[in-house]
Amino acid sequence: MATIIDGKAFASNLRQFIHAQVAQIKEKHGKIPGLATILVGEDPASQVYVRSKAKQTTEVGMASFKYALDAGTSEKELLKLLADLNANDEIHGILVQLPLPRHINAEKVINAIDPRKDVDGFHVSNVGLLGSGQKAMLPCTPLGCMMMLRDHLGSLRGKNALVVGRSNIVGKPMAQMLLADDCTVTIAHRYTEGLADHVKRADILVVAVGRPEMIPAEWIKPGAAVIDVGINRIERGGQIRLVGDVDFASAKEVAGAITPVPGGVGPMTIACLLFNTLTAFCRTMGLPEPVDMGFSLVEGVGIVQELKRAS
Ligand code: NDP
Repeated sequence: MATIIDGKAFASNLRQFIHAQVAQIKEKHGKIPGLATILVGEDPASQVYVRSKAKQTTEVGMASFKYALDAGTSEKELLKLLADLNANDEIHGILVQLPLPRHINAEKVINAIDPRKDVDGFHVSNVGLLGSGQKAMLPCTPLGCMMMLRDHLGSLRGKNALVVGRSNIVGKPMAQMLLADDCTVTIAHRYTEGLADHVKRADILVVAVGRPEMIPAEWIKPGAAVIDVGINRIERGGQIRLVGDVDFASAKEVAGAITPVPGGVGPMTIACLLFNTLTAFCRTMGLPEPVDMGFSLVEGVGIVQELKRAS
């Protein structure tokens, strides 16, 4: 029976740590980190995400700056707003909620954010820094996955890691981070042949596809650490339920550890956004970073313990 990795509790610990750090910084330096969120349009799911991000920002004592722009906002207007926020000293992190309306070029917009304020880690400079093993702003979802893996496994060195999915926001950066932690990494996608055989060899399995319960327990290596990023809405027994990309009910009998859906990776994503905002603030202010996430955590030490020590 697998250890169930409780992302909700982990995220709550991480937020407490951030809250304490922000309070200390405020007392010592009279300043607090600020996060700007930009939403263009009225997509209901995006509205929920942005509201939740803003709420958690203020809960940890940071300043939240909300920009809700109407769907007709032009690319030029959005770029102008970003230029203003880049120049604003009270703002240390900028998040543009995706997806953007079709008439706006998302790549152009993301790359217009000052890379030091790019708390989503999507700017091409941060992508390049991560890829070349330099200190980057790390994308929130894979960062949360790494924290949970390190906490559970300690050192990841030498493990066979399989990442299923190769999106720019989850799969690719996840693979880079696992590689930076000395795993032997395989990336699978829709054209991968013999996916079951790849899964069977994986000590660490991260699945970010968006297909309900596509990984059955029979494929999973006994004792593997399984991180299920997928969020899928399905109807079962006349009810709408959220399920992951892994068949959790049977996989937990085989895996060594597994994240549930909901309550696994999801809560960690926003907590890591706050963590990145704190990191961005410290870098801008020339303060010591809360903890060096540039893959130099002491091996075998859980991230939560490490964070507590750093506070
Ligand atoms: P994308 O749709 O951008 O990427 C999905 C990836 O899955 C693609 O690389 C695709 O391959 C691959 N894929 C599709 N079908 C298969 C298959 N049959 N076998 C192997 N690979 C396949 O999704 P995201 O990365 O944005 O998100 C993935 C999931 O994670 C979604 O359910 C999303 O909701 C969830 N998510 C959860 C977050 C959280 O905070 N918990 C945050 C972000 C995402 P190809 O490139 O060849 O098309």
